[in-house]
Amino acid sequence: MHTHDLIVIGGGSAGLACAQRAAEHGAKVMLAESSRLGGTCVNVGCVPKKIMWNTAQIAHALHDAADYGFDAGTRGHDWPQIRQKRDTYIARLNGIYEQNLATRKVDWRAAHAEFVSARQVRIGAEVFSAPQTVIATGGRPIVPALPGAEHGITSDGFFELQARPDSIAIVGGGYVAVEIAGIFAALGTRVTLVLRGAAPLRGFDSMLGAALLQALRDEGVEVLTGAAPVALQAPGKSLRLADGRVLGAFAAVLWAIGRQPNLQGLGIDRAGLAQGEHGALAVDKYQETHVPGIFAIGDVTGRALLTPVAIAAGRRLADREFGGMAGRHLDYENIPTVIFSHPPIGTVGLSEEAARATHGDSVRTYQASFVPMYHAMTSRKVRVQMKLVVTGPDEKIVGLHVIGAGADEMLQGFAVAVRMGATKRDFDDTVAIHPTSAEELVTMR
Ligand code: FAD
Ligand code: NDP
Repeated sequence: MHTHDLIVIGGGSAGLACAQRAAEHGAKVMLAESSRLGGTCVNVGCVPKKIMWNTAQIAHALHDAADYGFDAGTRGHDWPQIRQKRDTYIARLNGIYEQNLATRKVDWRAAHAEFVSARQVRIGAEVFSAPQTVIATGGRPIVPALPGAEHGITSDGFFELQARPDSIAIVGGGYVAVEIAGIFAALGTRVTLVLRGAAPLRGFDSMLGAALLQALRDEGVEVLTGAAPVALQAPGKSLRLADGRVLGAFAAVLWAIGRQPNLQGLGIDRAGLAQGEHGALAVDKYQETHVPGIFAIGDVTGRALLTPVAIAAGRRLADREFGGMAGRHLDYENIPTVIFSHPPIGTVGLSEEAARATHGDSVRTYQASFVPMYHAMTSRKVRVQMKLVVTGPDEKIVGLHVIGAGADEMLQGFAVAVRMGATKRDFDDTVAIHPTSAEELVTMR
């Protein structure tokens, strides 16, 4: 006799979405969360990051204000104030999540969970059992195994900073590195971005990395390429590189070199599971592990580490297992994503490089590069660059990439079109909206 229909381990984006949807379908659900409800996104990810991105946007607007005729002197920025308001907002969200669980009658415990067997989970001091268990334990930032690495911080530490550092070295060139670099640069911190490759955002369309590299340098960020740290020396926080160079000293050093799945102390071996590639849990298209009845969703699966992906995977799983929607699962193709750099980036579908590798000579691109009208009035000029990647005689759009102001809000609607199989002709036949930057996407030749 089981205590529940479903046990969900982890109360982040994925776990909450799955547990609540299953309960809405009538399942008796138990959820375990060992830290704060909402997980990475709410507490140390998307939400506080977007508040800091907005803060940086305002710094830029204040800078541009004089160019628009305003006498807008500012007496600087109060970091502790925005930090405190941000934390208060997040605490309110934590409470709302707790309320949501109560409304949907999801049982939950604020405790660490571990498998006792494939069908039993210990949560705190209690043991529960269910025919189905969902692992939604997310991930955590990687700290490199280098001497002195402990003197650096990660994105988690970024959100704990009591004051804005005067200088920072950020190691890495992915989402976290470029987003935090943009925030600090806009607020006046001297930023050094330490890349082991030649440009940031490897794996995305190369236009995006090249354009962002230029934008970061124009903003005053020192970007070092081909730079591999081998030690963080304290006191003074200087970075020693493999080629012998020593960078710094810096007020702070931030590691932004990726995330690893959270599986420590979960006892997955007792459930018959083992870690797969890069330490993640391997699942099939229904998010099921090789142990029947044990599923994994969200960052712990190591695929498309994004909140809407985690939520969508969780809800579809619950719809299928408890809502009678046979076959329902998440399609990982054409997932749109925004990088909240300065300027922001919106991208969906294949990069030009990936499209050429798959579709060969049938690939064609359309590109635009311009200074948006907003900057016609400002001394600061931040370009917009766009690319459409199309294939075949009907010019089906398989990739759409934008860097520049507004890209973040532009992308969602275009992602619907790409997912529906839009062609270049469909874009041409859509009347433009003027004057916007987005109109360039439907007027490219
Ligand atoms: P998590 O949100 O990490 O939740 C997992 C939960 O499981 C945690 O609360 C953890 O405490 C709990 N847990 C772990 N082990 C146990 C256990 N044994 N027992 C009980 N509980 C356990 N994505 C976007 O889409 N947009 C963004 O703008 C964005 N910005 C980001 C910015 C940063 C700095 C970071 C780090 C990430 C960002 N992400 C963003 C990614 C997004 O936060 C993650 O993809 C998302 O949170 C994954 O959700 P999840 O439920 O899989 O994992
Ligand atoms: P990413 O995987 O995006 O990027 C990791 C970066 O670190 C790469 O530039 C990589 O370089 C570099 N790197 C890896 N190992 C080392 C090393 N040993 N030394 C030096 N550099 C190294 O990881 P992030 O931590 O930036 O973000 C994790 C995930 O969280 C993202 O992939 C994304 O899915 C999610 N996220 C989403 C956001 C959003 O939606 N806006 C915002 C923030 C995070 P190389 O390119 O050479 O491999």
